[in-house]
Amino acid sequence: MSRARLLEGGPLAEEIRRAVAEDVASFMARRGRPPALRVVIVGRDAPSAVYLERILRGCAKVGIDAGFVELEGEATEASVVAAVRELNEDPAVDGVIVQMPLPPAIRLRAIVDAIDPAKDIDGIHPLNAGLLRLGYDGFLPATAHAAIEILRRSGIEIEGRDAVVIGRSAVVGMPAAFLLVQEDATVTVCHSRTRDLAAHVARADIVVVAAGHPGLVTGAMLKPGAVVVDVGINVVDGHIVGDVDFATAVEVASAITPVPGGVGPLTNAILLTHLIRAAERQAPTDPLATPARPVLSGGDR
Ligand code: NAP
Repeated sequence: MSRARLLEGGPLAEEIRRAVAEDVASFMARRGRPPALRVVIVGRDAPSAVYLERILRGCAKVGIDAGFVELEGEATEASVVAAVRELNEDPAVDGVIVQMPLPPAIRLRAIVDAIDPAKDIDGIHPLNAGLLRLGYDGFLPATAHAAIEILRRSGIEIEGRDAVVIGRSAVVGMPAAFLLVQEDATVTVCHSRTRDLAAHVARADIVVVAAGHPGLVTGAMLKPGAVVVDVGINVVDGHIVGDVDFATAVEVASAITPVPGGVGPLTNAILLTHLIRAAERQAPTDPLATPARPVLSGGDR
């Protein structure tokens, strides 16, 4: 069998970024300021600093006003909640992200609940999670959104196909599964207690892997011609790798996302489209404004 087609996120992200830059210019012309994003960061470990840097750079490229609010590593839950509430109340801030992971003493739930759902551009507030569950229009978690958007934009047929999602987290696995159901796939969600992962994967036309476990899916497990979306990000011997054993999977799959260079770059671009939406939705109605066109395929998601 020939090697799989590579589903690269970079070119798709570039396409999205160009559209976002136009939307930023249009927002700026109507509102007199660019859309604004603030990232709350508690302490600074190396990965989160890299991630933050990437977000800030991506925003700067398209003219978004991005900045961060940094709290010391010893910050209390109350101080993080207070920082989030302050951003919620600031009319000049359109979107808020809280950088994960948080220190163990801070309850994730307390912080997630504090974010204004209208500014929750990474879709982590329970209201947005509920809207997704019901198929209503809310903010999607950007990574799950990117995992499905890479399929849509690459022209991969989803409707009627058997999909397996490995991972059931609230931010990646479950929202990816709900999105696949919305796209009319038949979906199985696997997790660490799944008895025979290989048997499920062997039946799947589409495999989305979000487990944080390098080498979890190998070529030998895949149905020939399957489409593989690898969401995993792991550091092995100083290199970033996904959850899929790429060398063997690429020989069996018909299409596969590389790591790095697949879902990751698209996630960052998609986050920007969520910010534009948040900014447009919160802006007071301007009777002369033309509505922002949807930036993503598949409608106003
Ligand atoms: P998480 O909260 O740790 O969840 C991992 C999920 O995988 C859990 O549901 C877990 O099952 C399941 N799992 C773990 N080992 C497994 C195994 N051996 N077999 C089957 N299922 C297994 O992680 P996450 O936040 O969802 O992130 C998942 C991966 O995506 C990580 O590698 C992360 O770095 C990456 N990620 C990528 C991006 C991006 O932009 N590309 C963004 C965010 C995260 P249980 O529920 O039973 O524990």
